[in-house]
Amino acid sequence: MVSVATLGSHCALQVLKGAKDEGLKTILVSEKKRERLYKRFSFIDEVIPVDSFEEVLDKKCVSILERNDAVLIPHGTLIAQMSTRQIESITTPVFGNKWILRWESDRKLKEQLMKESDLNVPQSVPNPKKIKRLVIAKRHGAAGGKGYFLASSEKDYLKKRNILVKQGLIKGDQDLYIQEYVMGVLAYLQYFYSPLNETLEFFGVDKRHESDIEGLARIPAQQQLGMDYISSFNVIGNSSMVLRESLLDEVYQIGERFVKASKRLVKPGMNGPFCIEGVYDQDGKFWSFEFSARIVAGTNIYMEGSPYSTLLYDTPMSMGRRIAREIKLASKSKKIEKITT
Ligand code: ATP
Repeated sequence: MVSVATLGSHCALQVLKGAKDEGLKTILVSEKKRERLYKRFSFIDEVIPVDSFEEVLDKKCVSILERNDAVLIPHGTLIAQMSTRQIESITTPVFGNKWILRWESDRKLKEQLMKESDLNVPQSVPNPKKIKRLVIAKRHGAAGGKGYFLASSEKDYLKKRNILVKQGLIKGDQDLYIQEYVMGVLAYLQYFYSPLNETLEFFGVDKRHESDIEGLARIPAQQQLGMDYISSFNVIGNSSMVLRESLLDEVYQIGERFVKASKRLVKPGMNGPFCIEGVYDQDGKFWSFEFSARIVAGTNIYMEGSPYSTLLYDTPMSMGRRIAREIKLASKSKKIEKITT
């Protein structure tokens, strides 16, 4: 019988609860310091204690996962704590497409895939000399917005960059990705694509709360002007959101174009959960600055289902449970290789 495994962090509780609801065995690879937390939840059948998540590559861990016929669900912690090469070398079947995670971590590849998907992507700026208007400077990888900063000229950029290097948030030789800043309403669109029935499901949308950029709006302009301070975009949490119904058709089209381009560029394509992240501008036009090619933590707010998954399923359907359902279906029809890499 197939089982579901994941690393103990990010959205592990949602993923394993969903798997249990679908009647599957659940396994958690947990850092020893977090075991105490995860032991509180009865839906976790087995915990593999490790000192670091990289041990998921070690023989001991691999053989437990193999013995349980486990499918490993990748999430943000896997990407943040392991290199692309390590992820690609995982021998346990990984849900979705492990090869596309390289495209998520590398800003140039990321931009290429978004452009090939015909998404409106904010203009990237090749070097600080070319900064003409407000830009955001970002580190590569899933840094979660920490150490990102805004700048409106080369001088402003260099000044802030130097301060962040001194604070140890950026390495001196680190290349940053510079992109035009789009003002509007941020939205993080959550999807699931099933390669078994070749359909795209729009699962939900969330807002992120980022510190301390959000706090700026609470301070009068007079005080802001006097501050010699660089605000950051460190994600603290998520909250739910619904979109105007008139925007939904485009939301589906955005997801479908992304799935189609992924199939072409990075086989077997964008299977399973993913998220397209961006901003609706003053004309309601969606600008995508980012994607996540795996489950995002924003789905944690919909453990009982979202306003959109409710339209598709009669049972409360979290993203974690949807993943487990796909695994169960694939296992029954002997198609696990179609949903894993
Ligand atoms: P994660 O991996 O957690 O998704 P990340 O490190 O890949 O984050 P982004 O999602 O690209 O970083 O950016 C972090 C935050 O910065 C966004 O949530 C958003 O608030 C802001 N942001 C990024 N790009 C833009 C942009 N072009 N215009 C406006 N805001 C932006």
